[in-house]
Amino acid sequence: MDKTNNLQRAEVIHKDVPSMRVLPHWHEGVSPDSLSWDAARRVLPRLPGGGLNIGYAAVDAHGQGERAARVAIRWLGEAGSEKNITYRELMLASNRFANAVTQLGLKRGDRLFVLAPRLPQLYVAVLGGLKAGLVVSPLFPAFGPEPIAMRMKLGEGRVLVTTGGLYRRKVAPVRSQIESLEHVLLIGEGSDNGSAEAVQGTHDFDALLHEASDSFTCVETGEDDPALLHFTSGTTGKPKGAMHVHGAAVAHYATGRVALDLHDEDIYWCTADPGWVTGMSYGIIAPLLHGVTMVVDEAEFNAERWYSILQKHKVSVWYTAPTAIRMLMKNGADLARPFSFPDLRFIASVGEPLNPEAVWWGMDVFKQPIHDNWWQTETGGIMIANTAAMDVKPGSMGKPLPSVQACVVERLPGGGVRVIDEPGVEGELALRRGWPSMFRAYLNQDERYRQCFVGDLYLSGDLVKRDVEGYYWFVGRADDVIKSAGHLIGPFEVESVLMEHPAVVEAGVIGKPDALLGESVKAFVALRAGTDASDALRRELMAHARKRLGPAVAPREIAFAATLPHTRSGKIMRRLLKARELGLPEGDTSTLESGA
Ligand code: ATP
Ligand code: MG
Repeated sequence: MDKTNNLQRAEVIHKDVPSMRVLPHWHEGVSPDSLSWDAARRVLPRLPGGGLNIGYAAVDAHGQGERAARVAIRWLGEAGSEKNITYRELMLASNRFANAVTQLGLKRGDRLFVLAPRLPQLYVAVLGGLKAGLVVSPLFPAFGPEPIAMRMKLGEGRVLVTTGGLYRRKVAPVRSQIESLEHVLLIGEGSDNGSAEAVQGTHDFDALLHEASDSFTCVETGEDDPALLHFTSGTTGKPKGAMHVHGAAVAHYATGRVALDLHDEDIYWCTADPGWVTGMSYGIIAPLLHGVTMVVDEAEFNAERWYSILQKHKVSVWYTAPTAIRMLMKNGADLARPFSFPDLRFIASVGEPLNPEAVWWGMDVFKQPIHDNWWQTETGGIMIANTAAMDVKPGSMGKPLPSVQACVVERLPGGGVRVIDEPGVEGELALRRGWPSMFRAYLNQDERYRQCFVGDLYLSGDLVKRDVEGYYWFVGRADDVIKSAGHLIGPFEVESVLMEHPAVVEAGVIGKPDALLGESVKAFVALRAGTDASDALRRELMAHARKRLGPAVAPREIAFAATLPHTRSGKIMRRLLKARELGLPEGDTSTLESGA
């Protein structure tokens, strides 16, 4: 492959390593820069019997300790109300939930599904469910009835926590299909209001908790006991159910420190919904394990609201996604100018490749880089990252974290793999198995699970390159990579170059079958508001791409689109762009953002 490496430009953002803060007592002896799994395992609070339970370590350990009066959740209601919930209050409320579900007859290992807006009760249910030994599976509240039924049937949900409105619209029509479902608890508060009494066959969440005791002895779970069931985003096909264990907390804790720089007294905001793995691992578990205060915003994206939250609530660590950053960019940097962010110390992003333009935009608006990191539902936690201690190379997802062993491999025809030692060569990203948050199964798909591993390597399905300094560069998902005239073309590289043009806010690139080339590159481009989708602009973009990428890699065709299809977790669905372009069936669209 002789493709010039356009993304690996010389630009590096050099940083002063932020001074480390005083660590709380049970972190003593842990080096913040090199927190290994073993070190994290030693400092995580254990159950009286020596076991590990995510809910206990995240909440009770603080609720009974020095942080009891610290705010765990600063909840921002959609309409402007605010509620502070301390660690002690969260402990007591989640105890009530654990007692309530235990009294309903739920036992260790039973599956609890949560389908709710970001209301305080959602957090109480997740944490209380974990303490009761249940396996928690979050669902994104914008799912329709069929995706909900599909996931709950596959996951054999016995109990569901949702709101009255969501229940009536989305669950009641399919409830009879979900044979395992015995109990539905309705939250009667918040923007999606519904009166619990009016709905037959359900319990009132608040009334049940009110009657339950606030003292609960956490179920003695061990590191290998199942804790969470997460469905993948469905970007490349039908979503898979990935099972995770309580021991994942070891990775959540370690990566929260090393990759997100969480320190005592941070105000932390993760913008991902708990319906996705990011919103669970880093929107609930990691920040609470660290005992920080986390902001939870009930409302959906709004650029001005987001800037004002960052400013008003003095957010110091912010974890978001490329799609959100691109939306902020779309609204223009001027919108951010009236705000200032003196407390904001660290910004990170995950979910999709973070285009270099977005990192430079962060430098402009927030006066600091946005730190890209890479992981998947399957890895349960961050594996590769630009950490606070590292210089940032815009466009790179960073380096493997201290205890993560990553490599680049080539699949061999006989089923084995060859590790590619030379830097700069494209191959599949693989991880040595055994990290604590590794998924333990694809629900009901044992063979598919087995196929993810070759020897002791987990194969991620993502293509990357490693540079001489050990930074990893995302090329594309194995399914999305384009083979054109003997070249392997990663859509990310082409998309990032198109995004350099001021008129472009987002680009999605696919390969189209071509008799001569094998595949030809086609780009779909969304333009900044108020820009004319003219032929002149198309020619200008073509010329820009050819100059930056060379004629073999630059798109042959560019189509303008008002918006690109995204998953609800914000990822561009290239498989849908392709299916629509070729007139093929769209496949599973349960995670497609509405209207896309
Ligand atoms: P499905 O597996 O159902 O197709 P999905 O892979 O999008 O969906 P997730 O587990 O939510 O489901 O996403 C993980 C994937 O997202 C990674 O495998 C990778 O392709 C992409 N990704 C995540 N973070 C990054 C990043 N920093 N840079 C590039 N790609 C990323
Ligand atoms: Mg995937």
